Amino acid sequence: MNLPDRVDVVEVCPRDGFQIVKDFIRTEDKIEIIKKVIDAGVKFIEITSYVHPKWVPQMADAGDVVDAVKGYAEGKDVELIALVPNKVGAVKAFEAGLDWITYVVSASESHNMKNINRTIEQSFAELEEICAIKADTRIRLAIATTFGCPFGEEVPVERVIDMAKRGLELGVGKVVLADTIGIANPVQVKSIIGKVKEQVDVELLGVHLHDTRGMGLANTYVAVTEGIRYFESAVGGLGGCPFAPGAAGNIATEDMINMFHSMGVETGVAMDRIFEAVSLVREKVNSPVVSHMANVCRI
Ligand code: ZN
Repeated sequence: MNLPDRVDVVEVCPRDGFQIVKDFIRTEDKIEIIKKVIDAGVKFIEITSYVHPKWVPQMADAGDVVDAVKGYAEGKDVELIALVPNKVGAVKAFEAGLDWITYVVSASESHNMKNINRTIEQSFAELEEICAIKADTRIRLAIATTFGCPFGEEVPVERVIDMAKRGLELGVGKVVLADTIGIANPVQVKSIIGKVKEQVDVELLGVHLHDTRGMGLANTYVAVTEGIRYFESAVGGLGGCPFAPGAAGNIATEDMINMFHSMGVETGVAMDRIFEAVSLVREKVNSPVVSHMANVCRI
């Protein structure tokens, strides 16, 4: 089965989950939810993104969220991440002293243009500039649409491999293969990870899988048997898909850790504390919770 004793969970609800929620979530509520996730033992958490509020109004309070959470995380075994779309955002994240930034480049030229208004080449030119000034903050390169593009553009695995290698050469510390629209299937996940790891150290890889079509956990299982040890998920299964309103979102953290724990794979995350975060999400965030475990346990 090739199952490890332990994997890392990267909580992304405060960024990927919250960013498409229309009603503004109060800053203090975001902070409370993030604190619950930290208390649950999650080691990596993406807490916000430094995007222009014109594009993502929900993230307008990035600076306040980072300040509060940084204070709370002090001395705890947790690494804080913020997503940045460009160098302006990266500089803000570096100044704030975050542990990591996530820099997104799409493996689909049309999706990269639509998402960040740049060609892949332009995105890498900016990544090079960002890497040159990163100081102590580490960089995660998220390769969006690794498993498929919403505009039907073919995404050759060779391009994903080239992008991963190029990022690592520039000094990126982690490459996250993202199924941005939740279209991946287990056979494809096995094939793509299998090919990428022939040329990139699998320990430097992570996956960001969505459950849009109900294949999130099956894909997670295949990824772990292929050697991936770094998995992104969102409490309450928030996240949705900007191209499919109402669709299921990221894999719910509680479903993912339940699967790992039942297979004997440790995550270091306490289910009961994650449930506290889910309850808070239900109470404070105007977005449906899409989670098997929260239903089973009546959270
Ligand atoms: Zn996502």
